[in-house]
Amino acid sequence: MSNRSEQLETLLTRLSETSAWPVDRDLITRAFNFALEAHKDQKRKSGEPYFNHLYETALIAAKWQVDSVTIAAALLHDVLEDTSVTEAELSKEFGKDIAFLVNGVTKISRLKYRGNQAQAETLKKMILALSQDIRVVFIKLADRTHNMSTLEHLAPDKQKRIALETTEIYAPLAYRMGLGTVSGDLEDAAFPYLHPEVYKSLQETLKDHLAKGEEYIKKVEKEVTEALANQKIKIVRIDHRVKRISSLYKKLRRYDMNLERIHDLIALRIIVEKVEDCYAVLGVIHSIWPPMPGHIKDYIALPKPNGYRSLHTTVISSNGQPTEFQIRTEEMHYENEYGIAAYWAYQEAKGGQKYLEEQSHARSVLANARQTAWITQLQNWQHDIEDPDEFIAALKIDLFKDRIFVITPKGEAVDLPAGATPLDFAYAIHSDIGNHCVGAKVNSRMVQLDTELQSGDIVEILVQKNRKPNLAWLGFLKTRHARAKLRSSLRENSMLPTTNYYFSITGLDRTAMMRDITAAVSQQGLGIVSLEAPKNTTHAVVTIKLYVHIESISKADQLALRLRAIPSVQRVEYKR
Ligand code: MN
Repeated sequence: MSNRSEQLETLLTRLSETSAWPVDRDLITRAFNFALEAHKDQKRKSGEPYFNHLYETALIAAKWQVDSVTIAAALLHDVLEDTSVTEAELSKEFGKDIAFLVNGVTKISRLKYRGNQAQAETLKKMILALSQDIRVVFIKLADRTHNMSTLEHLAPDKQKRIALETTEIYAPLAYRMGLGTVSGDLEDAAFPYLHPEVYKSLQETLKDHLAKGEEYIKKVEKEVTEALANQKIKIVRIDHRVKRISSLYKKLRRYDMNLERIHDLIALRIIVEKVEDCYAVLGVIHSIWPPMPGHIKDYIALPKPNGYRSLHTTVISSNGQPTEFQIRTEEMHYENEYGIAAYWAYQEAKGGQKYLEEQSHARSVLANARQTAWITQLQNWQHDIEDPDEFIAALKIDLFKDRIFVITPKGEAVDLPAGATPLDFAYAIHSDIGNHCVGAKVNSRMVQLDTELQSGDIVEILVQKNRKPNLAWLGFLKTRHARAKLRSSLRENSMLPTTNYYFSITGLDRTAMMRDITAAVSQQGLGIVSLEAPKNTTHAVVTIKLYVHIESISKADQLALRLRAIPSVQRVEYKR
């Protein structure tokens, strides 16, 4: 048992060293003992007590400057999935926040990724949607980081699936959140399972290369240190890093697997005190060796989408070998490794005690972080996954806020707007499933077709071949897609009169105007059949033409009213 109390002490010490928040010893001690008791008869595949996994997960999260609630939830993160403890018990014992976090982690864990591209994107979004509280993602990443380190104990097919899921879902997620080190560690851990042959041969090749490289880099290090001292430029430290195997492999594939063409296998890293010093150091390096054209990268003036900041340059050193330098301040270095976690710490440092009182929840930090770089990262992410149209750009973060993700009985995630019903889900799977729907189960219980779904629900649809769609469904279907499918089926069955309206909207050109117009149409529960807008116009006044399915004149009038209320819209005309 003394072994366990040592573990608890280690955890509390690590947390008090890193956390930007006051450490709640009592809360963490209670969570520690509760998890110990709840999992007491369970073992990991490795044969060690299950509790060790919970301890290691909490210890990993403690590195990221999180608060005590996160650490307590990390210790408890498997009690709902793997023990008889219920959410109600957890909530009674530890409060709503911790119950929410553990429940969130449990829901994410239910998803099984099987390697199709669209699915990966949906999953990434799901994780974000569930992370109305960002701490859910911290815990899940810590959980996965520890599971990767014990992957050897699982069966080969499971190893492959988990390694793939880690590389394609969790590592990019960590990267986008600015947790650069976590992301790289996850990719490195997955690499040998995904590319066993490449891994072996790459390690062989590298051994020789690195031995020679280290010796050479030490010489360069000495030369630079002297030159900087001569110029009286103060540096905090100089060291070097060897390129990660996973990122080396990615780069090698772009360079015909030719190691000679990789100039940053070993890179020198110079940490300075002030931003100005970064540029001063760059100047000194270029005065000693000629820079390679096209290899100076100023990620300070123009940070990477995930917030990464540093100066990079590759020079031809004395023996003709290209050598990369990375120059940054301590603050940049820390943020590059710990992203949003670092943001918390600096906020705390700036605002002191008052800040802590106001921001005792990561949730409010998240709300407050809207203007910060990492929200921009998420926006950029959306650019990657969606058509980078101005419509999507204008949707910004709300794309995630207003969506839920539910799960098929096979464990696949389906992306729906908040408020969607089982019938919307049915139409999202296939229009035939929607049209022939006779009932639905949510989390194994029969429910009404108009029940509001929640993120993480497992939904099963019951169908009957001869069943026809129902006009009344139009009263509660939420998604535009489902309504359109239902209407066309109703029309086929001669159950719906069709009316079409043309709208012509004139107004002052404004980036968000198109978004406002389409939003007005979908808020009325209507579908746009076609839309015509001038592209790249230089005119101040533009006219947008819409063709909309509308069943009644009063609905058309209502839509016209909404459209006229849009700022900068000057004229709305419509006819059947
Ligand atoms: Mn776990």
